[in-house]
Amino acid sequence: MKVLYNPDSLLNLLAYGIQIPLNAGRILTTLETLRRQNFSVTVTREGAPLTKADFLSVHTEEFVANLFGTPQERQNLIRETFELVGPNGTYHRYNPESASRPLDEIVDHVLRQTALTVRAAAEALETGRAVYHLGGGYHHAMSFGGRGFCLVNDIVVAARWLQRHRGVKRIWIIDVDAHKGDGTAELTTGDESIQTLSIHMKEGWPLDSPEFDAQGLRHPWFIPSDVDLGIPRGDEAQYLPKLAQGLGQLEASGSPELAIVVQGSDPYEKDELPSSGDLRLSLAQMRERDFMVYDFLRTRGIPQTYVMAGGYGVFAHEPYCAFFEGLVQTGRL
Ligand SMILES: [Zn+2]
Repeated sequence: MKVLYNPDSLLNLLAYGIQIPLNAGRILTTLETLRRQNFSVTVTREGAPLTKADFLSVHTEEFVANLFGTPQERQNLIRETFELVGPNGTYHRYNPESASRPLDEIVDHVLRQTALTVRAAAEALETGRAVYHLGGGYHHAMSFGGRGFCLVNDIVVAARWLQRHRGVKRIWIIDVDAHKGDGTAELTTGDESIQTLSIHMKEGWPLDSPEFDAQGLRHPWFIPSDVDLGIPRGDEAQYLPKLAQGLGQLEASGSPELAIVVQGSDPYEKDELPSSGDLRLSLAQMRERDFMVYDFLRTRGIPQTYVMAGGYGVFAHEPYCAFFEGLVQTGRL
């Protein structure tokens, strides 16, 4: 397995006044483990060369214009994506006075991350090896904009880039983050060439609001993935059997040329984000989850690429480290 890491990609949200416990320690501690286990880590600032057209193949014109717009437009995108301002104008988990850096820097950060996700996917396709991007995984970003801490859907940008520039016909997206890959589902609904599986908390964010709005229109986050596996609160014992079954369903849709795995660590019982608390897998279950996906793809000869997605608090690195250490210890590499 090859690992790609951009040293500029570490993001401490507190420096921007955003009080969300996504800290750089998750990546740095995982890096230490990778180096101890002699993984090949490529430290690089060079992502795939993305153009506006690549973003327009996923997101709306208006959103992409803002993404490359004025500093004010870009800052507004971040305020919306991180839900920093409530309906009555009050700040939510946001204290601009404590910020030492401007919010629009986060847009550049996400664009860099997206370019490296695309490079990881392209290298996995070229070499047939597993390629891991230590970052990315913005699965809540929808066609019309960012939400749930996710600005640009780097996963679907990568899938469409491979289709546009490498002639790829079929791709799987396997999303094991605690939260539903709702942006990914919205962006790929009706597109047979990108098959999506999401295993997530059945209740809680993003599915705790009414399915239909006041006008009777369905909220986009209720758009189903091709295989949607909701785990009810307290039913962790169902998780691994359901995932195995879901992978079988995905396979019935036909084999892909590449799979993108959205490997959030927030289903872990020690995750500190309140909205991921309805799913509490043990470290052993997290490792089983990751081996199940890895083995499923490897035994079928499907190139696989990974993004980190969600994972919050001081223990967020543990599932990633258990996965990488486990690959070595069990002779899977
Ligand atoms: Zn998540």
